[in-house]
Amino acid sequence: MAAGKEALKAVLIDLSGTLHVEDTAIPGAVDALKRLRESHIPIKFVTNTTKESRRCLYERLVALGFELREDEIWSSLWAAQDLLRRRNLRPMLMVDDAALEDFTGLTDVKEEEQNAVVIGLAPNMFNYSHLNKAFRLLLTGAPLIAIHCGRYYKRSDGLALGPGPFVKGLEYASDCESEVVGKPSPAFFQSALGDINPAHAVMIGDDVRDDISGAQALGMRGFLVQTGKYRTGDESRISPGPAVVCSHFSEAVDILLKEYSVSGRDS
Ligand SMILES: [Mg+2]
Repeated sequence: MAAGKEALKAVLIDLSGTLHVEDTAIPGAVDALKRLRESHIPIKFVTNTTKESRRCLYERLVALGFELREDEIWSSLWAAQDLLRRRNLRPMLMVDDAALEDFTGLTDVKEEEQNAVVIGLAPNMFNYSHLNKAFRLLLTGAPLIAIHCGRYYKRSDGLALGPGPFVKGLEYASDCESEVVGKPSPAFFQSALGDINPAHAVMIGDDVRDDISGAQALGMRGFLVQTGKYRTGDESRISPGPAVVCSHFSEAVDILLKEYSVSGRDS
C-alpha cells in the first residue's frame, strides 16, 4: 500500500505488554516513543483497565521514563465516564475504589435517581446484595455498561475471574445486552480517535483480538507486537491477519516511520 505523509493522522498505542510489562519498560520502547513523537503524529494510549485511574496510569508510565501527557491516555474507565457524561446518565457504579477518581461528580448519585449500571472488576461489590440491586435497576430499563468483558486475568497467585462472568450473569437474569466500553469495541477506538478517519490511523498492540482485530474492524491498520501476551501463532488466529507483525514496539515505530515517509529523530 502506498502511503503518503498525509495518510497517517493518528497512532493508537496499547500500554501493558506493548510499552511495558508491570514495572519494566519493554527494551527500546522509551526511545522509540521519542522517535515517534519527533514525527508530530498525534498519539493516544489506549488500554483496557477497570482499576487504574488515568492519573495512576500516567504516573506509572512517567516513572518508567515515557514522555506523555495525561490527556493522551484513553482507558476503558475514561471512555465509560465520557459515555455517562455525554448521555447524561446517573450511574450505580460497580467499580473498584481505585477507579472512582475517574468518575468525579458521578459517584454519589442517590439510589432512587440511578438510571444506569456500570460494571468493572469490583470484587468487593460482587455479592448477592449489590448484584441484586443492579438486577432490579436493569429491570427498569437502565442500560448495563461494561468497562470490558474479560473472562479472567492473570494474578500473581494464579488466574482470577474478570468482570465478564458477572456482566453475563446480569445479562442472563435481566434479559438485556450490555454495552461494552473497552477494547475491542469499535466505539472505543473511534472515541479515542475523535474526528480522525480510522483509515488514516494505526493501532499498535500485543493482543491480536482486542487490539488488532478490534481496530481493524473499524478500518484502522493493526501492528501486532510479539511482546507481552503474544504467543506463537497469534497472527493466524484472526482473519484478516494483522497488517504488520513486528518483534517489538521499537521495530513497529521504525516500520511506521519508513512506510509513511515521516521523519523521526534528526541524526
Ligand atoms: Mg496489551
